[in-house]
Amino acid sequence: MAYPITITPTTKSRLQNIDFNNIPFGKYYADHMFIANYADGKWQNSRIVPFDNLSISPATFSLHYGQLIFEGMKAYKDVSGNAQLFRPEQNSERFNKSALRMGMPEVPKELFMEAIKELVKLDIGWIPVTEGSSLYVRPFMMAMDNHIGVKPTTEFQFMIITSPCGPYFNRPVKVLVADTYVRAFSGGTGAAKAAGNYGATMLPLKEAQKDGFDQVLWLDGRDFDTIEEAGTMNVFFAINNVVYTPELDGNILDGVTRSSIIELLRKDGYEVHEQKVSIKEIIAAAENGTLTDAFGTGTAVLVIPIGILGYKGKTYELSPVEKRVISPLIKKQMWDIMVSRSPDKFGWIIKL
Ligand SMILES: *Cc1c(COP(=O)(O)O)cnc(C)c1O
Repeated sequence: MAYPITITPTTKSRLQNIDFNNIPFGKYYADHMFIANYADGKWQNSRIVPFDNLSISPATFSLHYGQLIFEGMKAYKDVSGNAQLFRPEQNSERFNKSALRMGMPEVPKELFMEAIKELVKLDIGWIPVTEGSSLYVRPFMMAMDNHIGVKPTTEFQFMIITSPCGPYFNRPVKVLVADTYVRAFSGGTGAAKAAGNYGATMLPLKEAQKDGFDQVLWLDGRDFDTIEEAGTMNVFFAINNVVYTPELDGNILDGVTRSSIIELLRKDGYEVHEQKVSIKEIIAAAENGTLTDAFGTGTAVLVIPIGILGYKGKTYELSPVEKRVISPLIKKQMWDIMVSRSPDKFGWIIKL
């Protein structure tokens, strides 16, 4: 191994305390976590230890200035109970793009992959097997320098924690189009999975939820018309079954689920356009009945139908979920690949 990992197993597993039939997202964490430190220009001291609180200085740079990036992927059990990951190398590449944008060191792909594989293998019992369930894997990296002066940092910590999560829910979401707040702007960090992107969305989200919505759909602040993405999801719309999704313009996250779904839909013979998508055109299609589908995609939700759009004080009820064709089809195809119920024609699965 290029990056030897020291493993200190827990002496008291918490596994038997978990009711796998009732696991809210992000509430429980598996027995172990991975840590590596970057100092003197290199990654060192890679280790897996029992999951525990961190002891860090209150002056730790990332706590004050948000120099922190993260990733999200899932480990699944296949039909015969073997653990596997879905396209983890894509997460590794995106992590390093986020690192570059945030002035942080890259984590070599071998270190990233070995760390995830070793950690998931050790906590394999934490991967739920009920239909639609999985083990969420959360790598993250933060600046560790103990100074509150704003200047480039040199010390970093790369960590991975994992959390069992229950079945995907399929309740259509209510999405409010933000027409005053923006999530990202040209030249900013919208394409990075950077902590600060999310902190800034908490007020708009709170306001949307107060009005009965689940999520916010972001527009480009230059025109307040070009659709970007929603919360932690990329978005897709189908007009007369032709599929449109916002292009990667530097403001949105390049979702692994998004790019996989584009490939699958094209293979299924659907026309998919990655382009500028105008909210006015989507609303017009909703009004004249040609908007046949609308859905969000991401690791956490996989594929989730958008049931209602709120825009400039009006709400638009979209086509009934029972009548939709594309979103249920693509969700099933994705899930079947993730658990090896159908063949992995694209080479997306990494077995552990
Ligand atoms: C993580 C994330 C997504 C989805 O990316 P996946 O790789 O599909 O999980 C979309 N948008 C934002 C803002 C995200 O943070």
